[in-house]
Amino acid sequence: MSNSYSLMIHGGAGALEDLKQEASEAVFQQSITAILEQGRQRLEQGDSALDVVEYCVTLLENDRLYNAGRGSVLNAEGKVEMDAALMNGRDLSAGAVACIKQIKNPIALARRVLDRGEHVLLVGDGALEFAQFCQMETYPDDYFITDARIKQLAEAKSAGRMTLDHERIKPSQKLGTVGAVAQDLQGNLAAATSTGGLVNKRWGRVGDTPVVGAGVFADNETCAVSATGYGEQFLRTVLAKTISDFVHFKGMDADAAAKAGIEYLVRKVQGDGGVIVIDGAGNCAAAQSTSGLIRGWIERGGEAICKLG
Ligand code: ASP
Repeated sequence: MSNSYSLMIHGGAGALEDLKQEASEAVFQQSITAILEQGRQRLEQGDSALDVVEYCVTLLENDRLYNAGRGSVLNAEGKVEMDAALMNGRDLSAGAVACIKQIKNPIALARRVLDRGEHVLLVGDGALEFAQFCQMETYPDDYFITDARIKQLAEAKSAGRMTLDHERIKPSQKLGTVGAVAQDLQGNLAAATSTGGLVNKRWGRVGDTPVVGAGVFADNETCAVSATGYGEQFLRTVLAKTISDFVHFKGMDADAAAKAGIEYLVRKVQGDGGVIVIDGAGNCAAAQSTSGLIRGWIERGGEAICKLG
């Protein structure tokens, strides 16, 4: 039993300049700090890291500020298709869902997949049937689709591009994928990530978020990682597991491993994105190749800190 806990959350990577322009820094800081404090309460009362990362990501999914759950971006067909995953560092159990629609909290569905233990990743209609079986809450499309997202898709289409939510095409609503990593009072690590994916993505496209080792990874012997950025680049570099390997094979702490991971992402595939990491000693760290990464953390029970740059 360790006597402290750590928690770190993120709200996506991208162009900080746009972010500052459109929603004031204070709005993000308020949201991130409130979610961290709610997570702190759960960790202090002895809840598991797995429960707390799920809980924090649920709160982020319910907030339209972020590209996950309610605030998800639109694919090329103008539809929402969401991906989410979580992993328990205690026993490497994991649950993930991809290309799902109308589920209020994709991370809660991923948790059902983990708890059932039969499979790790369910996609599309099969995942939705499983959601019905689990009596998950569903909402009509208009719960998810906003005018700002329709405008953002039109801009990406006219630029002929697929973009990160927080990316500069021209000023518009730029928001972000979400994630959480935690260490509980028992010393267990867990990670969770949830996203609407890339703006203007092809339907059926699956990014790094629901793929264990790419957008999410947790192992008590190394660290917990949640990633955000161009999913294809994180898939090709298996980035979350690569960061865990830096801890395992090179003895790095969270800070060194996060930096080495992003250096590898840039060197190998000119990758755009960021990661948050907590290691077994409860150290919190982040690194990014984009100008912005919305994040906040509580290290070993200390004060909640929020940073956007
Ligand atoms: N990684 C996500 C994806 O490619 C997008 C993001 O992090 O903003 O689906």
